[in-house]
Amino acid sequence: LARVEHLTKSFGRDGARTTVLDDVTLELGRGEICVLLGPSGSGKSTFLNLVGGLEPADSGTVAVDGEEVTALTGRRLVDYRRRELGFVFQFYNLIPDLTVRENIEVCACLVPEPLDVDGLLRDLGLWEHRDKLPRQVSGGQQQRCAIGRALVKKPDLLLCDEPTGALDHETSKEVLGVLERVNRIHGCTIVIVTHNDAIGAMAHRTLRLRDGRLVQNEVAEHPVAASELEW
Ligand code: ATP
Ligand code: MG
Repeated sequence: LARVEHLTKSFGRDGARTTVLDDVTLELGRGEICVLLGPSGSGKSTFLNLVGGLEPADSGTVAVDGEEVTALTGRRLVDYRRRELGFVFQFYNLIPDLTVRENIEVCACLVPEPLDVDGLLRDLGLWEHRDKLPRQVSGGQQQRCAIGRALVKKPDLLLCDEPTGALDHETSKEVLGVLERVNRIHGCTIVIVTHNDAIGAMAHRTLRLRDGRLVQNEVAEHPVAASELEW
């Protein structure tokens, strides 16, 4: 689905430049759950932001569905993010004045053929909570809502940056289980960024960054179910 070639990114200027992504080359298969591991500061979020077209690369290319993301600008970049991508963040980023249902509905409006919002609310176990505001539901429920918001557009690629970073162990497993089900039912490719190695066990493909370099890229023969993860 996605092909990343020689992707490089630095921050800072002149004398104080640091290379945050260093010549990263990899492919993400259609329908894979990829877990991207690495310590804090290794470049995980930067990688996700480049693949998602949120930040420009210094050099190298990202192509998704044959479209070169790194070459897109303006309207076409906005369209790519709208059509192809869902983003899920550690701190949910829901709109606080909108209900759970409305948070999902505003994203449904962005594409011509969204998923059915009612069905999605039921799938995600949010039906009873649909008319509550984000602050009136738990962290796990807020994250499920954020997944719903990303998913309602039927993206090919779901990019999740530390989706369980703010959740306790049990709730984390439940949210990962939701992602697993989403992958199975909708077939979307999912990238889960985490510094929790244990989550790597559920991956179809495990990627690891260290100081901006890709040091592991491994396809798993027997991924573990999210409900069986232990840490
Ligand atoms: P964490 O697990 O803590 O989220 P990460 O692996 O996601 O870490 P990144 O956020 O990609 O790491 O950051 C990698 C490096 O790039 C860090 O040293 C960070 O300080 C630096 N960096 C990231 N974004 C910027 C920016 N906009 N300007 C300057 N430096 C940045
Ligand atoms: Mg990060």
